[in-house]
Amino acid sequence: MNEYVDKINDGRDHNRMKLYNVVPLTVPFAVSVSPSDLCNFRCNYCNWSTSAGIKDAKIISWNEFLIIIDQLKQLCVKRNQKIKVFRLSNVGEPLLNKKVPDMVRRGCGQKVGLSLCDQS
Ligand code: SF4
Repeated sequence: MNEYVDKINDGRDHNRMKLYNVVPLTVPFAVSVSPSDLCNFRCNYCNWSTSAGIKDAKIISWNEFLIIIDQLKQLCVKRNQKIKVFRLSNVGEPLLNKKVPDMVRRGCGQKVGLSLCDQS
């Protein structure tokens, strides 16, 4: 228990790679893919609440997602490196894309840190 509390209190990962030790990178540390630029909130400071933002918003298809995954895989194999974190978020509400559960399953299969961030 104390070990857990100490880790939380410290708030740092002491095993993190120091960026200055690994640059130039051969693959990105983290990749963010936005499953949906659409958003069901209308925060008044956000571009995605404007008519232009709504007009440009897109929900990526399963095939587009697979192309991204395949290209990232090819890059990692070619460079013999791993991407540490794969995020299913950027702008908008990712859960508006009905394929998100499949995307999470596919992402988990890649053995990378996977995160999903929604509005809540
Ligand atoms: S994308 Fe985020 S900031 Fe923009 S309207 Fe939606 S919840 Fe608000």
